[in-house]
Amino acid sequence: MTSHNDTLFTRAQQSTPGGVNSPVRAFRSVGGTPRFITRAEGPYFWDADDHRYIDYIGSWGPAIVGHAHPDVVRAVQEAAARGLSFGAPTEGEIDMAELICQLVPSIEQVRLVSSGTEAAMSALRLARGATGRDMIVKFEGCYHGHADSLLVKAGSGLLTFGNPTSAGVPEDFAKHTLVLDYNDPQQLEDVFARMGDRIACVIVEPVAGNMNLLRATPAFLQAMRRLCTQHGAVLIFDEVMSGFRVARGGAQSLYDIKPDLTVLGKVIGGGLPVAAFGGRADLMKHLAPLGGVYQAGTLSGNPVTVAAGMATLKLIQAPGFYENLSAQTEKLVQGLQTAANDQGIDFCADAVGGMFGLYFRKEQPTSYATMMTCDKEAFNRFFHAMLDAGVYLAPSAFEAGFVSAQHDDAILEATFAAARKAFSALK
Ligand SMILES: *Cc1c(COP(=O)(O)O)cnc(C)c1O
Repeated sequence: MTSHNDTLFTRAQQSTPGGVNSPVRAFRSVGGTPRFITRAEGPYFWDADDHRYIDYIGSWGPAIVGHAHPDVVRAVQEAAARGLSFGAPTEGEIDMAELICQLVPSIEQVRLVSSGTEAAMSALRLARGATGRDMIVKFEGCYHGHADSLLVKAGSGLLTFGNPTSAGVPEDFAKHTLVLDYNDPQQLEDVFARMGDRIACVIVEPVAGNMNLLRATPAFLQAMRRLCTQHGAVLIFDEVMSGFRVARGGAQSLYDIKPDLTVLGKVIGGGLPVAAFGGRADLMKHLAPLGGVYQAGTLSGNPVTVAAGMATLKLIQAPGFYENLSAQTEKLVQGLQTAANDQGIDFCADAVGGMFGLYFRKEQPTSYATMMTCDKEAFNRFFHAMLDAGVYLAPSAFEAGFVSAQHDDAILEATFAAARKAFSALK
């Protein structure tokens, strides 16, 4: 029997590079044929061969209330019926800005855009424009979208400027980006001592979700906050993934640290393209039309996408929403740990709010370097065994996973049953 997924993948590769519109979807890291999704509901989606999967990606985070939630679908349909886009302001954009400012107290003013990449790129430009400095600091393993200045990896040594990680990024861009080690406050101290007056901003994922899940240590983020304040640099928390995902107030509420700017995305669009950047009003006033930092977007604050985002942000404010989400995610990682232990597999797992990481190694990784020592081959075999059993994990050993409010105990039990078999096949 021919697989519709295979047929679609063959066809897709004729008209689209690699057959996908975003690289990780191509299954290159785990091998095999990507699943083409036809529909989704609650904690499930179905592929072109009508196989049902328990989904632990949730569109890489946005589907926090579960797929096709009736409130979100209704909000989108009603907004669409009133017109798709006007290129003029709407009241819904004010509602969303007010709600974001209320839920994330470090944000005094916010601007809506259409992707996390665009939001992070704009926040960098704002930080550079407001400080009059060029240099930015980022950390190895953090992802902030694919703006040129951010596709940079560490140079040959500390205090050497970065190298592009992508063809097409001029060395001249990379030379303004310094790439440091995550969770190394001493390195940050040294860099600020040497060149603090040239640093426009430090950008960080306060809970990293793009090198698998990696928690920042409080000491790391506290040092960052103190050094940025001392040296007049802008502290940017990229909470595109962690925002409204690890807690109602984002990672900054868990660590009790106020960044100067915050970048948001994923959950705030509820599955449609909405992202945002915001923070201190005295910084935000540098943006056009008030100030000299240019930034714009034809579809920014689009009425349909904002409606989806607002419906989602309403649902996550339900009493107990994050308590329940965190409890289910914790139960998930504990159940997987038990299943792995029973088979004697080197494995550990971690969860923060509705986000989790699976690590094929004995101990919890605490840095990018230790994360890279996870057994990728074991993950890939586990991934395919889970996929065959109807559980869809992120198709890479170095991506985080996501739980939705629709992942109830029965869904977790079905996941554990699949995991017991998948782990035993690894022996
Ligand atoms: C997903 C992500 C981005 C990029 O967002 P897009 O909407 O894919 O452009 C930026 N930063 C972080 C932390 C992300 O997880």
